[in-house]
Amino acid sequence: MKSNYKKLRLILGDQLNIQHSWYTQKDPSVLYVLIEVRTETDYVWHHIQKACAFFAAMERFAETLDIEGHDTLYIKLDDPTNRQSFSANCDDLIKKYHIESFEYQLPDEYRLDVELKSYTVKLNIRSEACDTEHFYTTRDELGVFFEGKKGLLMETFYREMRKKHTVLMSGNEPEGEKWNFDADNRSKLPKNHNPYPPLLFSNNVQPQYERISNADIKTIGTVDPQNFYWPVDRQQSLQLLNYFTENCLLLFGTFQDAMHTDEWSIYHSRLSFSMNTKMLSPKEVVGAAIAAWEQNKKIISINQLEGFVRQILGWREYMRGIYWLKMPEFETLNYFDHQRKLPNWYWTGKTKMNCLKHSIAQSLNHAYAHHIQRLMITGNFALLAGIKPDEVDFWYLGIYIDAIQWVEITNTRGMSQYGDGGIIGSKPYTASANYIHKQSNYCDKCHYDRTKRTGEDSCPFNSLYWDFHDRHRNKLGKNIRLSMVYRLWDKMAPDIREATLLRANYCLENLDDL
Ligand code: FAD
Ligand code: SF4
Repeated sequence: MKSNYKKLRLILGDQLNIQHSWYTQKDPSVLYVLIEVRTETDYVWHHIQKACAFFAAMERFAETLDIEGHDTLYIKLDDPTNRQSFSANCDDLIKKYHIESFEYQLPDEYRLDVELKSYTVKLNIRSEACDTEHFYTTRDELGVFFEGKKGLLMETFYREMRKKHTVLMSGNEPEGEKWNFDADNRSKLPKNHNPYPPLLFSNNVQPQYERISNADIKTIGTVDPQNFYWPVDRQQSLQLLNYFTENCLLLFGTFQDAMHTDEWSIYHSRLSFSMNTKMLSPKEVVGAAIAAWEQNKKIISINQLEGFVRQILGWREYMRGIYWLKMPEFETLNYFDHQRKLPNWYWTGKTKMNCLKHSIAQSLNHAYAHHIQRLMITGNFALLAGIKPDEVDFWYLGIYIDAIQWVEITNTRGMSQYGDGGIIGSKPYTASANYIHKQSNYCDKCHYDRTKRTGEDSCPFNSLYWDFHDRHRNKLGKNIRLSMVYRLWDKMAPDIREATLLRANYCLENLDDL
């Protein structure tokens, strides 16, 4: 490396945005740095595929910068000079190169935001933080939008985003004359229906895998490092986007909520890792989907497209806005005061409940589960069983390839566990076996009987569902959206209610054995 740098620019592992204005000019006085640090690998038990994917994508990004003529330093985990935190490493570089100013892009995680802010306060050189230029919205835009309004409804925010960014609008009206096509998007996979297989790459992440293993970092899940199939650079991310718009978009909406034992991604895009690391921008993903629809309106119906756009322009931006509005309090919320430990089988998949066995095994094998598996299988069970949200967050933050706190905790503690008491959802997302059977084939070969609520072979979801609502009547009983649930419960014969609660109690006392 040269020695006459004036400016140090730190790039975090989820800031791999080659379209950022930092890179529009080559400036020989700027040194870019990417660093693999233990503070990032150890704050949770990451899936081994997630750890490998981040390191591989970071290295590819550094190579790209280098090729494009930006001086870039990549500090590996096992570099003897690596002091294993951003601040200590930056301190060394500032000293070594007599750096005069330090710059970074605003982190998406509260933890890193605090760390870097306090680091720059202590620095005796100039420092500056700039936007990541990735999202549609700024950090505080959602808060400003809802100021003085009642509630924080996602739907209201989403419609505003559609109008503001002129996405799927026909003048002032929504394209297709409706804002929301969710009702069309709840089909089960028909028998003998074979979705397009997921596009898999063949990357070699053996060096990254060895660095992680040699450092004895605690990870979960499995990986084939010589045949690593997640995208690790922008080119592969674009290929995946293209594959999605060509092959999966046409049935994305219809089967958005479907689950099946033989399929792990169905028509889902698997673009969350590429977007969360900023290899792809949400605008280009939404733009590509709209372009595909415009060219093929006869084949791709509006409900497929709207369902997809809603996830990105709606939910993704909304969750980020909620995160910045409600952190740091958000990570302590526990509305139901749930305190149970996560059952051991969340780490192994070894349970007799087929839906959970399947969703967890898939997560351990692929570092991926789609939204409904996360929400209505693993999340639903944790909520019904009264698991402490800290434990649930720890699991979700580690296991998924796309798990970064801003989008993990809002979905987990908020949407899935209702720990926020209704900031994100207007009622808890709970379901019994009925729903799971309607959306999947999981119940077909289960040890438990989906039709039973009591007895040794009854599906645990059924009794736990009623027990949960009974237990939390003081907090949920007045929720209009749950009035039907309580009416049904109250109409049941007392001996049936008692037997249901007894079975639920058995399940709660023996969670590890279910
Ligand atoms: P697709 O179904 O193809 O959707 C397209 C894109 O929309 C996704 O890539 C994602 O960027 C966005 N999206 C969809 N749903 C949401 C949502 N609810 N919130 C924010 N963005 C959304 N997503 C993460 O990116 N990281 C997480 O750590 C994460 N944790 C979750 C935990 C729980 C309990 C739940 C219920 C959901 C979580 N999600 C998380 C949201 C969602 O499940 C994933 O974004 C999605 O499954 C990723 O797969 P995909 O790219 O195939 O998504
Ligand atoms: Fe899951 Fe119950 Fe269905 Fe078994 S019967 S797969 S435990 S919902």
